[in-house]
Amino acid sequence: MKELKTATCPKCGQEYKGVPALSREDNATLICPDCGTREALEFIGVYAEEQEKIISIIHSHYPMV
Ligand SMILES: [Zn+2]
Repeated sequence: MKELKTATCPKCGQEYKGVPALSREDNATLICPDCGTREALEFIGVYAEEQEKIISIIHSHYPMV
């Protein structure tokens, strides 16, 4: 298996492994996949509470280390 680099997300401060997402806020900042998902959901008008539910569903299907 390929070793994934660990990075710290500037948005939530959490360490994450894997492919970062590009922030919609400035199109330059690399953020963790969760924040990328949150921004995308926010963009389509999903409330924060619902965003967390969706993220937990994603995690149950694609567990992250
Ligand atoms: Zn984050």
